[in-house]
Amino acid sequence: MPLDSAAIGAFRASLRGDVLQPGDAAYDTTRKVWNEMVDRRPALIARCRGAADVLQSVRFAKTHGLLVSVRGGGHNVAGSAVCDGGLMIDCAAMKSVHVDPSARIARAEPGVTWADFNHETQAFGLATTGGVVSRTGIAGLTLGGGIGWLAGKYGYSCDNLRAADIVTANGELVRASSGLNSDLLWALRGGGGNFGVVTSFEFDLHVQPQMVYGGMVAWPFEAARDVLKFYGDICRDAPPDLAVNAGIIYTPDGHHVVALIAAWLGDIAEGEARLAPIRRFAAPVADMIGPLPYTALNMLFDGGNPFGVHRYWKSGYFAMLGDDLIDRIVEHAATTTSPLSAILLFRVDGACTQKEPSATAFSLREPVWDFDVIAQWTNPAEADRHVAWARRFWSAVEPFSRGVYVNHLDSDDPSTRVRAAYGENYARLAALKAKWDPTNFFRMNNNIVPG
Ligand SMILES: Cc1cc2nc3c(=O)[nH]c(=O)nc-3n(C[C@H](O)[C@H](O)[C@H](O)COP(=O)(O)OP(=O)(O)OC[C@H]3O[C@@H](n4cnc5c(N)ncnc54)[C@H](O)[C@@H]3O)c2cc1C
Repeated sequence: MPLDSAAIGAFRASLRGDVLQPGDAAYDTTRKVWNEMVDRRPALIARCRGAADVLQSVRFAKTHGLLVSVRGGGHNVAGSAVCDGGLMIDCAAMKSVHVDPSARIARAEPGVTWADFNHETQAFGLATTGGVVSRTGIAGLTLGGGIGWLAGKYGYSCDNLRAADIVTANGELVRASSGLNSDLLWALRGGGGNFGVVTSFEFDLHVQPQMVYGGMVAWPFEAARDVLKFYGDICRDAPPDLAVNAGIIYTPDGHHVVALIAAWLGDIAEGEARLAPIRRFAAPVADMIGPLPYTALNMLFDGGNPFGVHRYWKSGYFAMLGDDLIDRIVEHAATTTSPLSAILLFRVDGACTQKEPSATAFSLREPVWDFDVIAQWTNPAEADRHVAWARRFWSAVEPFSRGVYVNHLDSDDPSTRVRAAYGENYARLAALKAKWDPTNFFRMNNNIVPG
């Protein structure tokens, strides 16, 4: 059916939220996502206010044969939340979080960020595994896996997803739980945005004291080799309460440093003792470790990740941090082309590794480091040289990698990397895609092809 002004008017009238078109005042700000490189122009943006608006949006797009993209927090580096020419289903205004402290369950809508979620759950001394940047959306992060400070204790975010309400490709709202459509729940635990638009997420919560012990310690870049070796050692056999990530970054005043960003998630006095060896390692240029609120821990990476910056990522998992790999990391980090760019290593272990790979769509169940080369710059004319740096870096370390975190794939990563991310679970996911979305209606994502 053609898209004329009468059809758009009727669509607008069917929603509680707005429908934006090019030329509308809020159109350009609403189509923007975290990665400033992404500059796509949907024909329409539906700013949904609830599940009914999402249902209308999916049905409208089906009727008019429109490509659909779905926005949660807008953080995906590939910018898959926004499409060219189609309908962007924007869930950013769907922000309610309901906490049931006695059952230790939270229900949250898809526009909720981890800052929103932590604010509500920490009021009750509860939490679940979320992302390390507070503005990231719970939606895309959970559906793609979810690595964060609590992962070693409670598994990935998707492991803590108990149930979801989802608008599927046939334009109906269904429930996915262990008792209802359990195959769909399995797929949502890692299968990304392939199966529909989730309108409500239900998470298990855990007791998490409001104060933790942690922060960042930084050394001059010249110490990078030694610090990364030390980092590899402390991650080995680390108890679940200890979470340590590493980075090669620039400080706001322009110093190139290697940093460990660590937290002890249990008792503060014990944390002080457990993190002492990190603070004592060589002579740091900055030591910002101490007691801090759990909500603040989840904002430590916010400063380096503002909206409005151009970026390009390359990512993969390393099972070992051997000397050869560290040499290559340090060699290429030395040639960084922008003071906004960074190298990050996130440790994955503990509870994440205590399930079978087939237990959830998310298949990585062995201890690894998630490694990210993050090129960031502000002048669009400089894109080529920063992208080239990230690609050079990645080709040097790729031989040491195996697999990739689907949420860290960029727009030019080939579909073979999506398959690699799911490993042996890909065939089951493709069959479930054929069941729940046979026409590949939801394809602005790390796409699982119906099979
Ligand atoms: C600064 C930064 C920090 C990050 N930190 C972490 C981290 O600590 N841990 C981690 O695991 N990952 C992290 N990530 C990666 C993150 O998990 C992905 O970028 C994720 O896609 C972001 O989710 P979003 O809702 O913000 O994204 P969006 O860009 O809004 O959405 C991304 C995709 O998710 C799907 N999607 C979104 N909403 C819905 C919905 N309601 N229903 C169905 N599908 C939906 C769609 O396919 C959409 O294209 C980080 C990313 C950035 C940019």
